[in-house]
Amino acid sequence: MPNPSPPFIPFAVPDLTEAEATAVADVVRDGWINTGPRAKAFEAEFAAAVGAKHGVAVNSCTAALHLAYEALGLHPGDEILVPTMTFTSTAATAWHLGAKPVLVDIRENDETIDVEKAERAVTPRTKAIAPVHYGGQACELDALLDLARRKNLRVVEDAAHAFPASYKGRPIGTFGDVTCFSFYSTKTITTAEGGMACTQDDDLAARMRIMSLHGISKDAWKRYTSEGSWYYEVLAPGFKYNLTDLAAAIGRVQLARAQEMLRKREAIAKRYLEAFDDNDALIVPTVLPDRTHAWHLFSLRLRLEALSLSRDTFLDELKARGIGTSVHYIPLHLQPCYRETFGYRPGDFPVAEDAYRRSVSLPIYSKMSDADVDRVINAILDVVHRGAAA
Ligand SMILES: *Cc1c(COP(=O)(O)O)cnc(C)c1O
Repeated sequence: MPNPSPPFIPFAVPDLTEAEATAVADVVRDGWINTGPRAKAFEAEFAAAVGAKHGVAVNSCTAALHLAYEALGLHPGDEILVPTMTFTSTAATAWHLGAKPVLVDIRENDETIDVEKAERAVTPRTKAIAPVHYGGQACELDALLDLARRKNLRVVEDAAHAFPASYKGRPIGTFGDVTCFSFYSTKTITTAEGGMACTQDDDLAARMRIMSLHGISKDAWKRYTSEGSWYYEVLAPGFKYNLTDLAAAIGRVQLARAQEMLRKREAIAKRYLEAFDDNDALIVPTVLPDRTHAWHLFSLRLRLEALSLSRDTFLDELKARGIGTSVHYIPLHLQPCYRETFGYRPGDFPVAEDAYRRSVSLPIYSKMSDADVDRVINAILDVVHRGAAA
């Protein structure tokens, strides 16, 4: 009898244990499911973990970015520099405020924003820069912060991939004016949907806090407890971005497990690097010194010149072998709305386009077994072998 085919290895799976289940059950039992003491505790614990003075818990990283840009005063007519190699929310949230996302190419080695090209894109209207710590590895922060100082730009870090990560021994979370983290289901820690805006600045924190809940001057939960009262003031037309206690309860357990989960991703990354490093058809991610990599992504680049298969066929072949993959990212300047509104065209950012054409992101999450990692490695080597032989 033929062996049954082994189960599909998904691209990403959240790592949830009995501890998260118990934490959620506790919230349900005590009945305070919406924003309250657990969200507050999660803010304090997360901020402490990254060394930030303030953490504002919200329901997504997208919300955190929007709040950060709003608090920094991004207005219609302003420009913000954003790497084209990112998810749409880094740029779209500035666009919501009427600002223009000015896309910038990446550098080849770590695929983060090219700071020299960013400098050339600065105009008198440029107000901010939003670097992305691609894959979980800090961008060249010294050069970027120097540019920001010289050109008087505010810095909002998209750290959706970068918890826990560090640059020159200091955790990501305190370098820019605001640092935005994601707790989406596929990210390095999760609350199903969630995010955190961290800052050292009291005024920015206060503004983001108010705007995260309708522009109201008091936290909702205080209004309904004996310390509060029925009275509130609406100071600005705010958003509805608060994180629930149900989500925060999961987040607190995930936060406590973050280093343990990172150790597992590091071990997987090490195995991938060893397996693929000297393969002529594969380019492994560049690991830079002076950084702790969060290993949210492990994105291979195919040396298509050495293969007779296209990237898309490569992904199909992996799928046929039961391996889930993804592509990070389709550059923003190739997406219809950015092309139609801002006139971007294919060819505008050649480094990002080249990386995109070669991109194959592999599963890397703490729930993977050694056997799963073996299967991914064997499948990749098998597909490469066929592509090279064909
Ligand atoms: C996931 C992600 C976001 C958005 O995070 P959400 O929490 O889903 O809003 C933003 N930027 C990058 C680079 C991401 O990967």
